[in-house]
Amino acid sequence: MKYNRILVWFRNDLRLSDNETLIRAIQQGGEIIPVYCIDPRHVENTKLGLPKTGAFRAQFLTEALEDLRKSFIQVGANLIFLHGKPEQVVVDFAKQIQASAIFFSKEVTSEERQVDRGLEEVAFSQGIACESFWQSTLYHKDDLPFPIKQTPEVFTQFRKEVEKQSKIRAPFPTPTAIKYPGEALIPNTGPLPQLTDYGLEKPKRVEHSWLKISGGETSALGQLRSYFWEKDLLKKYKETRNGLVGMDYSSKLSPWLALGCISPRTVYTEVKRYEKERVKNDSTYWLVFELIWRDYFRFIAKKHGTKLFQIRGIRNQVDSWRRDEAQFKRWAEGKTGVPFVDANMRELNATGFMSNRGRQIVASFLVNDLGIDWTWGASYFESLLVDYDVCSNWGNWMYVGGVGNDPRENRYFNILRQAKNYDRNGDFVRLWIPELRAIRGFDIHQPWELSTTQCQTLHLSLGSTYPFPMVELPSLEKT
Ligand SMILES: Cc1cc2nc3c(=O)[nH]c(=O)nc-3n(C[C@H](O)[C@H](O)[C@H](O)COP(=O)(O)OP(=O)(O)OC[C@H]3O[C@@H](n4cnc5c(N)ncnc54)[C@H](O)[C@@H]3O)c2cc1C
Repeated sequence: MKYNRILVWFRNDLRLSDNETLIRAIQQGGEIIPVYCIDPRHVENTKLGLPKTGAFRAQFLTEALEDLRKSFIQVGANLIFLHGKPEQVVVDFAKQIQASAIFFSKEVTSEERQVDRGLEEVAFSQGIACESFWQSTLYHKDDLPFPIKQTPEVFTQFRKEVEKQSKIRAPFPTPTAIKYPGEALIPNTGPLPQLTDYGLEKPKRVEHSWLKISGGETSALGQLRSYFWEKDLLKKYKETRNGLVGMDYSSKLSPWLALGCISPRTVYTEVKRYEKERVKNDSTYWLVFELIWRDYFRFIAKKHGTKLFQIRGIRNQVDSWRRDEAQFKRWAEGKTGVPFVDANMRELNATGFMSNRGRQIVASFLVNDLGIDWTWGASYFESLLVDYDVCSNWGNWMYVGGVGNDPRENRYFNILRQAKNYDRNGDFVRLWIPELRAIRGFDIHQPWELSTTQCQTLHLSLGSTYPFPMVELPSLEKT
């Protein structure tokens, strides 16, 4: 046996199913000690003064950890919680329990990689081996038909090459028993992290929020079962995916995928089963297509390193952004005076989630209509999104900001046209902007067009009950 006791350090891989790191450790045949470490750097504030891990994500994370601990207890182990910088406390703990190796999942972005390297160095100096494994993508890094440094810059090319030349590996089995040392070695497993550990309060549930999700592998598998099999929604995903209201227009798997409560391969395997047992069509393919977008941003992040977070982006575009804090605040609070933008931002602030359509619209408004620094938008999303994923978030923002690798020059979204296409009757805006609720039909999207008499009848006073628009929007017809 190469290692008789292995510490498995969990990060964004909070699951037992299809977890290569865990399985490889178990295959060594020795004892396994699963550990999660609360890193103080994740609790710090961003440059905008917001917590890096905001309340929605922290809440989802604590639920995921609770679920993971329960799963470990069921297979005869436990999950240990540590506080501090992993490169110090994880190695210290490994030494204390005389673990001969630390196994963990690889990350791709700069801060995380720095932690990996730090941990490997300290562990090496203590005579503890480290092994890390590639997880989290649909296509394994080693199965790509090109070296990472030559990852195609354009998504379509990336997708076509991997679809043609790479195979998706089968998921690893879920362990049913784990060899775990007795209490004599680890008398104290540490308390479950609480929101207060992040200096945060539990987010209040908004009455009209439809988003009812909780963190953890159990609920991830439940959501997959519900969306695919019980509600049978996968077969029309392509037609519904641009929706705005409710649990059913898209899979809502992103928060669980972000923390690794479920693997993309598990989702893919279930799509294939659905295609065999129910139906195979454009929609079933399209969910996989979206998972390939997720892979693409991860490989692009690995290829370009810190450029992902830099204002000039991959294109090395000149920094001509505005940094108007007052205007940014209005955008963030959902008080721009443009109802479709405001409704989406208020949904984000109230629930930690926003549809993909909404994200594109508010991001385009910030960068194109207001000309404000795209990294401010990305930082705001980082703090608020329950499904925050470093590569998907910064990669998508770079795209919208025009500093990424999108071959299309113009990523401008005409807000009124978007409203006409995706919220024709204004129901979404009505849900999130109560002060406009009385306005009927599409008029809710352009309250500035109402006459004084109409405003009086509706008890609407622009500039008082609801703001005037910050910018003049192009008409419906204009691109
Ligand atoms: C500005 C901006 C920021 C974003 N930030 C994030 C983020 O932090 N985390 C995140 O997971 N997604 C992000 N996205 C992508 C996308 O909006 C969400 O993945 C999607 O809305 C999640 O809902 P869903 O799980 O129901 O998606 P579905 O439509 O059901 O798609 C299935 C899965 O495919 C993946 N996916 C779908 N669209 C994209 C995409 N454009 N890029 C990458 N992966 C995608 C997600 O993992 C998603 O769960 C962002 C998009 C934009 C425009």
